[in-house]
Amino acid sequence: MRTAQIFWGIVVLHVAVVWALFFTVAPEPRHPLIGIGQFLGLHAALLMILQLTLIARLPWLDRRVGMDRLTTWHRWTGFTLFWVVLLHPAFVVLGYAVFYRSSVWQQLTNLAGALGSLAGMVALALVVVAAGLSFRWARRRLSYEAWHAVHLVLYAAVTLVLVHQLFEVSAFTAAPVAAAYWWALWIFAITALIAGRIVLPVWRNARHRLHVAAVVPESPDVVSVYVRGRHLDRLPARAGQFFIWRFPGYAGWWRANPFSLSAAPDGRSLRLTAKAVGDASSALRHVPVGSRVFAEGPYGAFTAMHRTREGTLLVAGGVGVTPIRALLEELPGDIVVLYRARTPGDAVLLEEMQALARMRGARVHLLAGRTAAGDPPFGPDNLRRLVPDVTDRDVYVCGPPAMTDAVLRTLRELRVPRRQVHAERFRLAA
Ligand SMILES: Cc1cc2nc3c(=O)[nH]c(=O)nc-3n(C[C@H](O)[C@H](O)[C@H](O)COP(=O)(O)OP(=O)(O)OC[C@H]3O[C@@H](n4cnc5c(N)ncnc54)[C@H](O)[C@@H]3O)c2cc1C
Repeated sequence: MRTAQIFWGIVVLHVAVVWALFFTVAPEPRHPLIGIGQFLGLHAALLMILQLTLIARLPWLDRRVGMDRLTTWHRWTGFTLFWVVLLHPAFVVLGYAVFYRSSVWQQLTNLAGALGSLAGMVALALVVVAAGLSFRWARRRLSYEAWHAVHLVLYAAVTLVLVHQLFEVSAFTAAPVAAAYWWALWIFAITALIAGRIVLPVWRNARHRLHVAAVVPESPDVVSVYVRGRHLDRLPARAGQFFIWRFPGYAGWWRANPFSLSAAPDGRSLRLTAKAVGDASSALRHVPVGSRVFAEGPYGAFTAMHRTREGTLLVAGGVGVTPIRALLEELPGDIVVLYRARTPGDAVLLEEMQALARMRGARVHLLAGRTAAGDPPFGPDNLRRLVPDVTDRDVYVCGPPAMTDAVLRTLRELRVPRRQVHAERFRLAA
């Protein structure tokens, strides 16, 4: 069974257990509306536990599902959480107002006087702000760093939610087994987060002590950075994966940017190749040799581990060639590469790709030049002509969004089974 199905199966199982506990051990609410509010509150907490697990960057999950999918799930879970955290207090406050025959305002001020409820209210406000700024129209107006900084307040929200649960009489307080199960879920999520986001990266960076070994311009706006360190043979990185890199002093210590490995890791060095699009990627050209590098990872499921067939088609566009170049080095079997670039001069790493292809007996087709009307390079006719046995191959695609969408559309039209199609979009749902 696929990891994604197992993961969601486990989530559904926990939801079922929580429902069973709620309907068997939770005390009778004073009013049905309060009961609905408590039921929603449990779901809000469950969604938070799920959110923490999804962003914990657990290697086991990330390698199988991929960070792009995990962050997409995280995004949709976040929007669901947004509505549930609004409904939870709405029902509770309304329920108390009806029960005590007082106004909603009166109940709100009463609840704000108790530490547990006040903590819940502040957490609610933080979740609403962070989720509100993640809606597409707001997200587009914020830089990645500003959006990320706002997101960090959600860790304060999680702390306040824990205070809220500790100080409020919760649905499971009276049943020790249910309470133990509930807190075990929280302990799992928080431990996973601390392990994946703090302990593992800190330990890996202390162990490998990465530094810049060379900076090599590949074109006027693309540069490769070679990184060396200790015990790199112990780093479980694979071709097709990426790290989140930090070059302190050259792009601001708070900036951490994802870049794929542009060569298969050989146990002695790592290489990333970056196109200058903004401050952080442009600064890489000026990073001095010897400077310290911090990296989180490896991440991503765009690897040979997901290959299902003997033959492979690798499709690269622009700087999306980076993980494709690494995969060409590592993948076994019969390989065809389609590399789309505006001009042959824009095709960075092309010579390396051709040399590798000669060694591996692979075919590289460079698709350069303007697209003629009616003859799209990744249309079904062209793809079938270039790779007649495409349906028998795994297809790995990485390129600009429009190109990637065109390739995926064509693969659907040609009925290439979904499990054979792997895409790296250079985009996290963030
Ligand atoms: C998994 C993955 C692998 C990538 N591999 C490569 C690669 O091999 N070579 C390459 O040239 N580019 C790669 N990119 C794209 C690269 O990360 C961005 O171009 C770079 O982060 C831009 O940063 P900037 O400050 O220079 O530009 P900015 O103008 O600040 O950012 C441009 C855009 O890049 C994205 N971005 C910026 N910072 C981050 C971040 N910390 N996390 C996620 N997205 C961010 C945002 O969508 C932003 O709008 C990859 C992206 C991802 C998600």
